[in-house]
Amino acid sequence: MSEQRVGIVTGGGRRWGMGWQIAMGLANKGLDLAIADIREDWGKEAAESIKAETGRRVIFVKTDVSKRDSVQAMTAKVIAEFGRVDVLVNVAVLTEGWDNPRCDCVIVARGCESEALWIQMVGRGLRPFEAKLDCLLLDLQGLTHTLGRPDAAATYSLEGAGITLATSADVGDRLCKVCKAPLGKSLVCVGCGKDHTPPVPRALDLELTDWQEGWEAAKSQLAPSRVILALAGILHKQELARSKGKLWKPGAAEFRFQMIFRRRPYPNEMAAARNMVRAAQNFGATGDHA
Ligand SMILES: [Zn+2]
Repeated sequence: MSEQRVGIVTGGGRRWGMGWQIAMGLANKGLDLAIADIREDWGKEAAESIKAETGRRVIFVKTDVSKRDSVQAMTAKVIAEFGRVDVLVNVAVLTEGWDNPRCDCVIVARGCESEALWIQMVGRGLRPFEAKLDCLLLDLQGLTHTLGRPDAAATYSLEGAGITLATSADVGDRLCKVCKAPLGKSLVCVGCGKDHTPPVPRALDLELTDWQEGWEAAKSQLAPSRVILALAGILHKQELARSKGKLWKPGAAEFRFQMIFRRRPYPNEMAAARNMVRAAQNFGATGDHA
């Protein structure tokens, strides 16, 4: 059997979707791939672009994962083409209708705008099971901040309104995690004194008291923003022109920036972009990396 490893990604067709990105990651790690998707246009495009970018063998197999015959035909085709399967990634398969009560950790890595789907996804881990005491929820997207805590009181309706989470002020029927006494509207248990104040989430040593603000701060620490990269690119062109004896009019860089972003650059953005250009020039002066 060949040493070449092979992966299948179902639901991998949507451009920049989670499956597509996982598929790209696997291909970058050296796997050959089958993209299985119900959308032929998406699937073909994904297979072509991943092949072009990584040089791996990538095939598309049109598949309806809700039909057993279709899935069996897909796996048969992959085995016929590649001879083996090492990695199987199913995207969006375990969000609902999947019943494994032993599950005691749910990692939600996707975005979601539906309270009903949010509760469904977390609910995969909330089923009781012998000797299971809790379920760890890792909410990587901060959905708790936008859709509320999945264990908060909710109103369920079969008449079109769906599920509506109660606001935290309405939560009256939660029980103490230690002694199981009703908490009422208090965060501190009157029975045992346990404090149920939710911990303030942190990222990069910042308290995320205001989620949006913290998120923006965290992003700006992680990577230079698109704005500053674009501005640095403009300033770099300006420097190149100057080195060839052509001068830009004063304010030309700001004007070009405004054509793209529909506002003037802020002074701190100009400073950051200038630093970036200077750092790139210093790098170029000490070593040729071309
Ligand atoms: Zn208590």
